[in-house]
Amino acid sequence: MRLVLLGLPGAGKGTQGELLSEELDVPHISTGAMFREAIKAGGPLGETARAYIERGELVPDDVSVEIVKERLSQPDCEQGFILDGFPRTVPQAVALDRTLPTLGMELDAAVNIEITEEEAVRRISERMICSQCGATYNRAIHTVSQTDRCLECGGLLIRRPDDTVETARNRLAIYMEQTHPVVHYYAERGMLLTVDGERPIEEVFAAILSQLKAWRFGRSSGEEAR
Ligand code: AMP
Repeated sequence: MRLVLLGLPGAGKGTQGELLSEELDVPHISTGAMFREAIKAGGPLGETARAYIERGELVPDDVSVEIVKERLSQPDCEQGFILDGFPRTVPQAVALDRTLPTLGMELDAAVNIEITEEEAVRRISERMICSQCGATYNRAIHTVSQTDRCLECGGLLIRRPDDTVETARNRLAIYMEQTHPVVHYYAERGMLLTVDGERPIEEVFAAILSQLKAWRFGRSSGEEAR
């Protein structure tokens, strides 16, 4: 299955992406995580990405498209993928539509995880990530604090530098301006599934799976009818 996850920062794309990746046995590809890795590694990609990310702005389309193209051409993507944080602009969605056929692939659906802007700001202000493996925690749910360690790898938990309230507001404004049109892009193509992201993690996950199932069933019976 080849999926795109859409939603405001803090909607739970990373969490649901991990769960879907395990369930469907396909890689979870987060462009944000790839940029954070590149920044940690300290190469030219990291240098380019850092300035944009720290301001809460989008990394230029050509850079983001290139890393995704490269990643999707890896052998582990042959059976499918969960794209999280890409596409974030309509030109990125168009680039993805052009790239996939060159790899013999087709996108199945885009899943929009809906939360309000107030909920996004609240979750961003509660978010902690592991400085080593990038796992995400929410202080309200996981009762972790700045001195605590990652439950996966023991790495130090930190705040993301772009998770300040000011940067978060900028990211939300950019989302409404540049990423929200991507939701319409997929809706117009009949590829959009929407779930309420303000429910508990397991319920959101169950809702995504049941929507995917219904959608696949609808698609296959539509094909039979044709
Ligand atoms: P995320 O981890 O998805 O919240 O992404 C963190 C930051 O990485 C974003 O605020 C952007 O600055 C950058 N980023 C991630 N994905 C993209 C993308 N597809 N296009 C442009 N910038 C991106």
